[in-house]
Amino acid sequence: MVMTTSASVSADGQGAPAGDGTVTDRLVEANERYAAAFTDPGMDARPVQRVAVVACMDARLDLHAALGLNLGDCHTVRNAGGVVTDDVIRSLTISQRALGTRSVVLIHHTNCGMESLTEEFRHDLELEVGQRPAWAVESFRDVDQDVRQSIERVRTSPFLPHTDDVRGFVFDVKTGRLREVSPA
Ligand SMILES: [Zn+2]
Repeated sequence: MVMTTSASVSADGQGAPAGDGTVTDRLVEANERYAAAFTDPGMDARPVQRVAVVACMDARLDLHAALGLNLGDCHTVRNAGGVVTDDVIRSLTISQRALGTRSVVLIHHTNCGMESLTEEFRHDLELEVGQRPAWAVESFRDVDQDVRQSIERVRTSPFLPHTDDVRGFVFDVKTGRLREVSPA
């Protein structure tokens, strides 16, 4: 892949118009427009709806739009799969203990990339780079079962003081609809 700067013309022969720059350049330009119209909402850091949403990083899932959330309403914690890792527990612990959230919503989704990976991914990485990653891949086959496991990890965490309102869902990327998974 050819890296270009905002000052360079398209040199990679991929047909990107000259002057467009990299994707990051476009994001920075978009931010200039955003900031020009921005007014200080006067909020503090405590989420208004007192909820933390843990979700997959999938590009098809627009959490705020899908859940009717506004700026300042919630914490969003996202990673590959929306799985509850130690680092997600770290964020939830800070969310609850320092920033006042009380509810946790877990969102996986249909057609997740994690369904096509296995722990072999980790083994292959080790072969390639000569070092085994410290983290588990956390791939899964059964999305409902993985939601249940995530619910359980939140509910049994010794660090979280508020575990009575923890619910898990699967977001359908074709319909935009959430389906709740019973903890069972
Ligand atoms: Zn996903």
